[in-house]
Amino acid sequence: MTFQTFLIKYGEIGIKGKNRYLFEDALVRQIRFALRDAEGRFSVYKSQARIYVDCEGNYDSDEVVERLRNVFGIVGICPVARRENAGFDQLKRDAVDYMDQMYPDKNITFKVEARRAKKTYPVNSMEINRLVGEAVLEAFPEIRVDVHKPDVMLYIEVRDQIYIYSRIIPGPGGMPVGTNGKAALLLSGGIDSPVAGYMIAKRGVQIEAVYFHAPPYTSERAKQKVIDLAKQVAKYAGPIRLHIVNFTDIQLYIYDQCPHEELTIIMRRYMMRISEYFAKKDGCLGLITGESIGQVASQTMQSLAATNEVCSLPVYRPLIGFDKKEIVEVSERIGTYETSILPYEDCCTIFVAKHPVTKPNVNVIRKSEENLAEKIGELVAEAIETTQIVEVK
Ligand code: ATP
Ligand code: MG
Repeated sequence: MTFQTFLIKYGEIGIKGKNRYLFEDALVRQIRFALRDAEGRFSVYKSQARIYVDCEGNYDSDEVVERLRNVFGIVGICPVARRENAGFDQLKRDAVDYMDQMYPDKNITFKVEARRAKKTYPVNSMEINRLVGEAVLEAFPEIRVDVHKPDVMLYIEVRDQIYIYSRIIPGPGGMPVGTNGKAALLLSGGIDSPVAGYMIAKRGVQIEAVYFHAPPYTSERAKQKVIDLAKQVAKYAGPIRLHIVNFTDIQLYIYDQCPHEELTIIMRRYMMRISEYFAKKDGCLGLITGESIGQVASQTMQSLAATNEVCSLPVYRPLIGFDKKEIVEVSERIGTYETSILPYEDCCTIFVAKHPVTKPNVNVIRKSEENLAEKIGELVAEAIETTQIVEVK
């Protein structure tokens, strides 16, 4: 069956008053964006606390659903058969026809739930419920009515046209991107950071990203992998400005000047500093990382404290309490896993010490960083200046 409209359900808790408009307008924008290059013509509009997507032209219903399933803020997608408003007899025929096509197996129970949005329609919603119910029962003797727990809720909406639907396809939930500000994601080629970006974007936050690479120690392919991951996150989060920072000279300098067991922590601190520079410049309200407590030496509570210390913006770590297995599950579900496990080198693993400190003392780390005083300012400035920005869609 082809559908002419999709009725979008969204969570309404906590979005009362003025916020509701912002939420709905952002959702309309995000839906338009998700459909911008799909074949067909789409009209996305809100009406009476609902959002509708009317489809025209050569569109593919399945493709439309696939795209809507990636839009944060959508709780459910109802594929609607939209019919001309050609009198009540025709409405009954359309409802019977809908049931016939949607439910080839008629051994089901159902209930009609009508809504008369067009108040001038001559039949009221109670009557529609009763009369359409009768028409369906008459057409299909096996079908039964169950008003408490029906297998099928047959929704009928009378608007300028007649909208008939019964299925609700789950959406991703969350809030429309753009309703909760912007944050900068430290995006590596691993499994965790794309998931972290997804989770924060799901709360309505627009994402920018920063990737540190170290050519020639890390390859062009490693960089491409991160661009690909950003693309996959952008399927949900919308366009992402990806900053690609050349970190080689900073890493080599740290390697020369600092104790090797502190390398990872000190490198991480410079990543945070540089990310925060871009974040502030671009109006981001926080940083995002894929860290989780105790996952590796650089993610113990002491290490997290040491990396946290260099930033003044809040650092959001949505995976902080997740086990690796749980992170992998999300990454499989959102489609980043296959790319994340491709075996390309990461700048942190190349300069990693055999026995990194697991309980760094912040004062000791600060002291070690004093060894960098001579050149680090210049190197950071140069890394910022030579940063390449890729607009990922
Ligand atoms: P991931 O799977 O996200 O790479 P990980 O388990 O490999 O995480 P680490 O390498 O310790 O963990 O990195 C912790 C976090 O630091 C990452 O989740 C990411 O947010 C950030 N990070 C690490 N390396 C880079 C990098 N090269 N560029 C940008 N951010 C990075
Ligand atoms: Mg990593």
